[in-house]
Amino acid sequence: MSDRLLLKSGYVLTMDPEIGELPVGDVLVEDGRIVAVAASVDVDPGCAEIIDATDRIVLPGFVDTHRHTWQAPWRNIASDWSLFHYLWGLHTGLSKYYRPEDTYNGNLLGTAEALDSGITTLLDWSHNLRTPDHTDGAIAGLRDSGARTIFAHGGGAPQWAVLPGNDVPHPADDVRRVRSEHFSSNDGLTTMALALRGPQFTTDAVSEHDFALAAELDLDITMHVGDGELGKTRPIDWLRDRDLLSDRITYVHCCTLGDDELQAIADSGGKASVAADVEMQMGHGWPATGRLLAVGIRPSLSIDVCTSTGGHMFGLMRTALGSQRALDNARLEESGGTLANGEPIPLTARDMLEFATIEGARAAGLDHKIGSLTPGKDADVILVRTDTLGMSPLNNPVGALVYNAHPGLVDTILVAGRVVKRDGALTHLDPKHVLELAHATRDHVLEQARDDELIGDIELGGTWTPRNPAHAPSHA
Ligand SMILES: [Zn+2]
Repeated sequence: MSDRLLLKSGYVLTMDPEIGELPVGDVLVEDGRIVAVAASVDVDPGCAEIIDATDRIVLPGFVDTHRHTWQAPWRNIASDWSLFHYLWGLHTGLSKYYRPEDTYNGNLLGTAEALDSGITTLLDWSHNLRTPDHTDGAIAGLRDSGARTIFAHGGGAPQWAVLPGNDVPHPADDVRRVRSEHFSSNDGLTTMALALRGPQFTTDAVSEHDFALAAELDLDITMHVGDGELGKTRPIDWLRDRDLLSDRITYVHCCTLGDDELQAIADSGGKASVAADVEMQMGHGWPATGRLLAVGIRPSLSIDVCTSTGGHMFGLMRTALGSQRALDNARLEESGGTLANGEPIPLTARDMLEFATIEGARAAGLDHKIGSLTPGKDADVILVRTDTLGMSPLNNPVGALVYNAHPGLVDTILVAGRVVKRDGALTHLDPKHVLELAHATRDHVLEQARDDELIGDIELGGTWTPRNPAHAPSHA
């Protein structure tokens, strides 16, 4: 007998332009897939589990296309740090005290946090893989979270200790091992990609080696480009000169790339990931949202690191929309223009919701499976409450989601049809257990790092800044 579930009488935002939105609608799920979306779907009594979606917005789960998930136990430790403090204190500092179980604990916490907030698909940009056991820990943490995930292998300390001009190739043996041991199929709930440093950060020979590795193993690539001063070194020219631009690359940040570089990405079918919160917090440059749109790229969104900012899509959508609107308004003012004649403003809340759902699915190479509530796709669905003092009366569901909602309103979540959150509580994970593991990791790493004179006198509470950023890797 098939496994059927009916989401009944919700405000359905399908994000599928052909189906549109249904102010009152039903979504029928069978064996993990969406089989019907309509104003009313009839099923015989007793033939389906029914979830009442009254006073809920029903929409596809969010997709985060770039997150260094292992860092989750260090949330907000870097809220007042510069990029250099982060690189020194955390990325090459606390990171070296991670045991494989800490990588597991961090990935479990980070992915569970994302899932709990409505992010049903997460690309884990995993760049603290110190040993193959750490790699296995990272993958196990993703799998145990219950979310749909992409494990993007990003190397470890040797690959990141010296930047730019790093001359250590991506650890090919571990990548080949992971591809055959864990991801011989591209069809599971967790799949694989390659998180490369690229020409901004390595020697020419190393980037050439790393791109060849991706081709050998038939893996999509995700790569930081256009972040801060280093991003002005024309990394896209480097790729174009070697005929390496492709539609299987997601370019993260893009803030300081030239407009012609963005055009070259667009011409090759490349994808983009905007991490607006971190880009403005760490000084990567202005989020490239509007400049990407100008060349025809509709970006996806990403959290990047939870060490300074929050980990949920609601806050990120607000920052991404607000930052671009501020830029658009400033440009209009500078040009002596005005919106006094009632012209529409260029970027809408609906654009932002598309970036967080269907465009994220596209960047993850999963738009044939997820990103919209389309019959035939997997049922990755979230229900967001609208019956609260802050969300009701519901006059504009998209505006409410983007400018008003928060993770506490995410009431029910399905991943491939499996209910992982119901009535506001995760059903498949014990949050207390996840937090115990995260605390154990944080306390272990802190204890080990206290003797590390280059990190400095660590204190919690918001007062600690890594001591010696002048000795940080020469990142910019
Ligand atoms: Zn990043």
